[in-house]
Amino acid sequence: MKRLLIKYSSEISLKGLNRGSFENLLIHNIKKAIGNSANVIKDYGRMYIDIDGDSDDEVSEMVKKICKVFGVLSVGVADVVEKDIIKIGECASAQLKCMPDVKTFKVVTKRGDKKFPLNSMQISSKVGAIVLDNVPSIKVDIHNPELIINVEVRDNAYVYLKEYKAQAGMPYRSAGKGILLLSGGIDSPVAGYMMAKRGLEIVAVYYHSHPYTSERAKQKVIDLASKLSEYTGSIKLYVVPFTKIQMDIIEKCREDELTIIMRRFMMAIAGRIAKKEGALSLVTGESLGQVASQTLESMYVTDKVVDMPVFRPLVGMDKIEIMDISRRIGTYDISILPYEDCCTIFVPKHPKTKPRLSDVESSEKALDKENLINDAVENSEIIKLGENGEQIISKM
Ligand code: ATP
Ligand code: MG
Repeated sequence: MKRLLIKYSSEISLKGLNRGSFENLLIHNIKKAIGNSANVIKDYGRMYIDIDGDSDDEVSEMVKKICKVFGVLSVGVADVVEKDIIKIGECASAQLKCMPDVKTFKVVTKRGDKKFPLNSMQISSKVGAIVLDNVPSIKVDIHNPELIINVEVRDNAYVYLKEYKAQAGMPYRSAGKGILLLSGGIDSPVAGYMMAKRGLEIVAVYYHSHPYTSERAKQKVIDLASKLSEYTGSIKLYVVPFTKIQMDIIEKCREDELTIIMRRFMMAIAGRIAKKEGALSLVTGESLGQVASQTLESMYVTDKVVDMPVFRPLVGMDKIEIMDISRRIGTYDISILPYEDCCTIFVPKHPKTKPRLSDVESSEKALDKENLINDAVENSEIIKLGENGEQIISKM
């Protein structure tokens, strides 16, 4: 018999009385990722999926999908054998014989069943001895083996060579909801990924300045949200018409305050959508000092328009670190497509890097803020991305 052996984040195991609900949510998310009919078997600290009837391609497709589910640490493709040390050793030998190029190995054992008569060290050394007897010209190398034979003794014994690393984190939707300000850049998709990885459900918002930003710029954001949905299952994206607001600011406010006032509108609109969506936080891709609008003073002044936490998971990261994550999660290649975003078109020559709240508030008196915000929210287009492709819920 063959099974996928799924290890999950130890943070979930530390949840005391809530542990069960975190585990059930993780199972729900795994099933959603691979098809709801899958049977995920729960054991203490592990989950299993029987894969006897599945082809190698089907199994590797399944593993790929499970490795994107937040909360999963790793997936092993294991042979299931009786809890008998000889059988375990023979199974390990058979697996190694399929890999004739491997010259050195070691056995790593975890014994979940404390009643099993041998301890982990003893199991490893017995299995190692059986492999040495059965597989010609192979050696044990404790420090630098080419291959690790993993053995787990639990409800059954599990033997596996390949263990695929997953994202870790907490189950998606276990930590409330946040509105992600998603531009077409490199940073905000990474910020969304990082908060989703901590269990925050994401609703994305994109400010679209038609006709100054093209349909291709909008499509890029849709593609980014769609990429994030590979991890989260599905994502709702609000496309908010932003041109009127920007034109009004340009017409009525000082040039050096354009950026800060525009950013306050972005935050205020996201805050309004948060109320509508029952979200308690906002998420942005800002990193301290990266550009004029990401100084501490600017962040202070933008945050004043909302009454909820603003998460900036990249605030202490360098661009290189952010780019590394974006490459790893698959958003980088979409983000670097050259389509302009609204902020690059409406940038003042010398934006204020140290805006003062009272100055900005008094400049904004020239604007009919309430109406501008309401109009933008009401005229948003809502698109749902994920399992069923792209679905338009409401149109601009
Ligand atoms: P990014 O790479 O995420 O675009 P950035 O380095 O270009 O970030 P800014 O343009 O200053 O930085 O934007 C800061 C943050 O504001 C972004 O990370 C994003 O969260 C949000 N933001 C900027 N422009 C938009 C937009 N058009 N729609 C939605 N959110 C936006
Ligand atoms: Mg940007």
